Amino acid sequence: MKVLRRLAKAGYESFLVGGSVRDLLLRKAPKDFDIATDAHPEEVRKLFRNCRLIGRRFRLAHVFFGRQIIEVATFRANTEIVKTITKNPHGIILRDNVYGTLEEDAWRRDFTVNALYYNITNFSIVDYTSGMADLEKKIIRMIGEPEKRYQEDPVRMLRAVRFAAKLNFTIEEKTAAPLSKLSGLLLHVPSARLFDEVIKIFHSGNALAAFTLLNQYDLFKSLFPQTAYHLSRSQNNVVKKFLESMLLNTDTRINQDKPVTPAFLFAAFLWHDLQATEKKQNPELPKMIAFENSANQVIQTQLKTIAIPKRLTKTAREIWFLQYRFHKRAGSRAFRTLSHPRFRAGYDFLLLRATIGEVKQELADWWTRFQSVGNEEREAMVAALPQPKTTTQNE
Ligand code: ATP
Ligand code: MG
Repeated sequence: MKVLRRLAKAGYESFLVGGSVRDLLLRKAPKDFDIATDAHPEEVRKLFRNCRLIGRRFRLAHVFFGRQIIEVATFRANTEIVKTITKNPHGIILRDNVYGTLEEDAWRRDFTVNALYYNITNFSIVDYTSGMADLEKKIIRMIGEPEKRYQEDPVRMLRAVRFAAKLNFTIEEKTAAPLSKLSGLLLHVPSARLFDEVIKIFHSGNALAAFTLLNQYDLFKSLFPQTAYHLSRSQNNVVKKFLESMLLNTDTRINQDKPVTPAFLFAAFLWHDLQATEKKQNPELPKMIAFENSANQVIQTQLKTIAIPKRLTKTAREIWFLQYRFHKRAGSRAFRTLSHPRFRAGYDFLLLRATIGEVKQELADWWTRFQSVGNEEREAMVAALPQPKTTTQNE
């Protein structure tokens, strides 16, 4: 309100726009607030001390209020009518910093429900694209010609799914029709942008619904090709069950405001490919070397599409590594495993595996109990273990 008022006072037009208007109309709490204005970025900066200009593709002003950032963008023209836009050979827009009118700004947005403008000076909604009607009908509808708009920016395919999952809306028929055919366009999107989008999809409390839609529209295979391969081939759908149960847990944790790490997500998505890759290693290799080789290979392949930061792949490897350690409980081994910094994530992963019968429930239960009892009882639990068979150096 402060930003909108100050812009108005200085004689500029300004509106709340995008997800915040959509979510407020649906009585949901907006994640962030975007403002559209006829003031140019430099003019916005002059009005606010707590303001920074950012962005290469779009020049935007960020106004800071503590940890909240209000994004202030100048009206931009519709990409369909402006010919000065720079495109790369795949037709993807690289720069479209062409200022326009409010109406042009509305038509260049992605979905009708994202193109509603709220005018605080008279409490009205400006609606050029029939977004209000679609909001009432619970429909995600692309503005303009869907195929063309996906070609301009393939991430819009993921956004369609993300909003449908988040709002429990239906993707309108013409908007949904090209998705499967154009799925491969995602391979031309920079891997860092796909990483950001994947986190938004799977860490906003509607991951399971989004996963179902991504598969329904053949988009998942372009993001996680190795996972998709095992999903389509696994016996009795165990990979699907495993991932669905992981995503349901993630949703539950997020909706309870519990912390989640994307490393867990990637560890789970790549787990079955890791195991398949290990089976293909030279059987004479020491187990740990075979594991390291496989982990490297699986992660390298995934990095071609999604730029997962190193700190996350490192944690994913630790979660995987712990899965081997859980079987080795004799002597001081169980105690060392318990004090591993990733024990909790590794243990959660073990429980997930038990749900699809990949490890015995007794093993999971043993670790559940081992954590909860005192040291004396832990010693007793280890002493009560069946004598280990003689192990070879490789193990
Ligand atoms: P949320 O913030 O809840 O994820 P949002 O709709 O606010 O959803 P943002 O990514 O914050 O999404 O973008 C703000 C607005 O900018 C959108 O509502 C839409 O109008 C416009 N927009 C964002 N990305 C695109 C895009 N790739 N193509 C066209 N318009 C876009
Ligand atoms: Mg937003």
